[in-house]
Amino acid sequence: MKNGINQENIQKINRILVLRLLRATGTCSRADLARMSNLRPATITNIVNELKDMHLIKEEGIINVERGRNGIAVSLDKSYYRVIGIRISRKYFHIGIFDIEGNELESSTHRFYADEEAETAFLRVQEQIEILIKKASQEKVVAIGCAIPGPFFRNLEGSESEYPDWPDINIKKVLSERFNVYVFLEHDANAGALAYNWQMRVPSGKMLVYFSAAQGIGAGIVNNGKLILGGLGTAGEIGHMSIETDGLLCKCGNRGCLELYCSSHVLINNINKRIGMGDYSVLKPGFHLDDVKEAVSKGDRLAVSEYEKVCDYLGIGIANIINILNPDIVVIGDELARISSDIMRERIEKVCSRRLYELVWQHTNVCVVDKQIDISLQGAAIVAIEELFKEQIFFNWVDY
Ligand SMILES: [Zn+2]
Repeated sequence: MKNGINQENIQKINRILVLRLLRATGTCSRADLARMSNLRPATITNIVNELKDMHLIKEEGIINVERGRNGIAVSLDKSYYRVIGIRISRKYFHIGIFDIEGNELESSTHRFYADEEAETAFLRVQEQIEILIKKASQEKVVAIGCAIPGPFFRNLEGSESEYPDWPDINIKKVLSERFNVYVFLEHDANAGALAYNWQMRVPSGKMLVYFSAAQGIGAGIVNNGKLILGGLGTAGEIGHMSIETDGLLCKCGNRGCLELYCSSHVLINNINKRIGMGDYSVLKPGFHLDDVKEAVSKGDRLAVSEYEKVCDYLGIGIANIINILNPDIVVIGDELARISSDIMRERIEKVCSRRLYELVWQHTNVCVVDKQIDISLQGAAIVAIEELFKEQIFFNWVDY
């Protein structure tokens, strides 16, 4: 059991603490850092100088600190190190380059083709990484974060499984050997949850749950800034929570799984069934999810009623998770949320307020995100940054 902390480790932990404080606050003075970290001003000065030499922080000029005194402000140096984020889904991959705070500098989306071999598809991912690394030649690309769909199992040594659709490819091994950088994999909903936790500057001690509502339903749970993963890393697979005792049989072996009643795929199927039964809709066979969004915005009765049903089921799943975890913040995003955030919020509020203790529901801050952003892409980069900011990896990384 490792339980000793020697002098060298304390030094590393203190440097990491200063970096994390700067990442959370943006810009602050040395006096602020000393106060927030509880470290002596002389220690802070040493750490700031060391981190400046490593191109990790920079001075920002004079700012006013306590009691009218001036001090030199410092912040993370966002110009030197770079992280690549990749989000792999079943239909496409999305890739971008980020600074070490987690801000996107550039990104692009690439389709996978139905008849494409896994090796060919993965080579195309690598080509795009190569392009971004070449473009960033003035800066140093230090890590790649990759968000993949579930089920996502970690083995007992703590490393990750491969992308389930490419069982013969070890993404982590291939990328780290070819590009000589650290590579981290994470479930896409977990990556999204970390990104929202960072974007919303959720204070320490709070819990955020992000529900990714798309072709499947997944959740990422961040408590006090850290992901809740569970033994194998499958915590948050809420799509396979049973909501109908004798419901439909799911591929996971369970019956009545949530995602058999509310996913973008189910919504399209249900609308198609009703059109097949002769019900009127502006939607015509072969329609896509974007067409459903348009039909809902025009008030198409059939599309609205089927969308409401899906939102109600999602609300049941959310109420169950709120009962289990009592989170402070719930964020719902992805394909289904983008159809109509207003309808979704209204339906979820209705379902949850009926099913939860009033005090618990009142405490929960619910946010439905309808922006056309791929939060799991930024999340992939943030997964890599969070890992780099853990002491051991960090100091190997900067070769210090
Ligand atoms: Zn299932």
